[in-house]
Amino acid sequence: METDVIVIGAGGGGYPGAFRLARSGYKVVIIDPKGELGGNCLFSGCIPSKTVREIAQMVWRNNRILKSNLKPDFSVIQDHKDRVQEIRYMQHREELKEFRDNIELIRGKAKLIDNKTVEVEIENGIIEVKGRYLIIATGSEPVKPKFPGSEFAITSDDLYGYRTPLRRLPDDITIVGGGYIALETATILKALGYNVRLLVRSDKVLKGFESELVNTLLPLLGLEIMYNSPILEIKKIGEQEFEVFYSDGKGNKKSLKTGLVMLATGRKPVLPEGAGGILALDSKGHISVNDSMKTNLPNVFATGDVNGKAPYFHAAVRMSIAAAYNIMSNSTPMDYVDFKSIPVTIFTIPPASYVGIMPSEAERMGISFIEASYELKNDPMAQIYDEMGGVLKLYFERGSLRLIGAWIVGVHAGFVINELGQAVAHGLTARDLAEFADQHPTTNELIAYTARKVL
Ligand code: ADP
Repeated sequence: METDVIVIGAGGGGYPGAFRLARSGYKVVIIDPKGELGGNCLFSGCIPSKTVREIAQMVWRNNRILKSNLKPDFSVIQDHKDRVQEIRYMQHREELKEFRDNIELIRGKAKLIDNKTVEVEIENGIIEVKGRYLIIATGSEPVKPKFPGSEFAITSDDLYGYRTPLRRLPDDITIVGGGYIALETATILKALGYNVRLLVRSDKVLKGFESELVNTLLPLLGLEIMYNSPILEIKKIGEQEFEVFYSDGKGNKKSLKTGLVMLATGRKPVLPEGAGGILALDSKGHISVNDSMKTNLPNVFATGDVNGKAPYFHAAVRMSIAAAYNIMSNSTPMDYVDFKSIPVTIFTIPPASYVGIMPSEAERMGISFIEASYELKNDPMAQIYDEMGGVLKLYFERGSLRLIGAWIVGVHAGFVINELGQAVAHGLTARDLAEFADQHPTTNELIAYTARKVL
């Protein structure tokens, strides 16, 4: 079988670029063992976790504001989650019909033979596909460290996976890890009425995020976090009861009893077999690419989590589109991804978001900036929801007053950051932001209020 472009992996790094190429007349073969578009984001990641999150936030708001004591049946939430996933799978099947002349989706696992040849293991055999260009978008998967009893622990895939058998949860849950998936899930389950604790190996959570943002967010989450407590062992002591052994930091072995252990100990890239032999990798095993998404081989592109540049669905989509344009220009790049303008949100309850250059980085880079901030307690939305904690911070380059970065902790952070991302991407200044009439009452109004503080 011959085609113009082979796309390996049908997630955010894969199908948007395939659609773009198909629209311009390219023949594209997409390969994915799921046989559906959406990748891990739709199967077990962003969409299902955010479905559960939104319901958890509703419950949390309901219980606080209406002074009720709702503890929903988790299986009802899981049923709703599966329905949302099903709707999106159907939507993707409809989209594929539109491209039936140019895109073929093959259910199977791809193996790289060389930079133009892929072998696909399908249900009843193996087929060979040849393409002029390749986009590798095989994503990432949770790291599951091995220790005695680690087989008793689940990962986020078990909690959020499409049609997961996990429909009921015990009252007491232990989450191992201190990254954004650990914290998001901990606040989601806490909001749903479960007793949750975090076991964190080091003395820090949310490593890599700006410390002022983290220090503003953490007190609002009210989580039980056990720092310097690496997990050592899990023993099953009953039907849904486990004893978790950990080191208390002074080297003493301690234990606690819990009903479920979830490991949120990071994610690692998934490479198709054969990729490591012909493609340059970074020290963590990601496929190395430049900002045009090109690998060391001029006709091979790698997009999404597999390149380790920004492990978020919306970033993968942007990378996928860039790869498509650069294939259309015969690998002479005409599109580069500006990673600095891609917003990031930690979907805890409440959430936190940032975009652009953070102050610690600006200082390292020698960029002189002016900072302006606004407390969310003065924001009507924060007052309406009675979620008054949080801060918005804007950073403007001194002189030009161009917005170089921003972060927000608190209500609607994930919405507000999109507008700020546009501002960073297009070089808007404090004056531009100050003059824009954001709708009232929305938390976005704070952007103009805050920008006016530096004029
Ligand atoms: P991203 O958002 O980075 O594009 P995702 O993790 O959402 O990535 O999706 C990656 C997809 O790649 C998954 O659906 C997975 O099944 C698929 N995949 C992984 N390995 C292979 C392979 N060897 N062949 C084909 N598809 C693969």
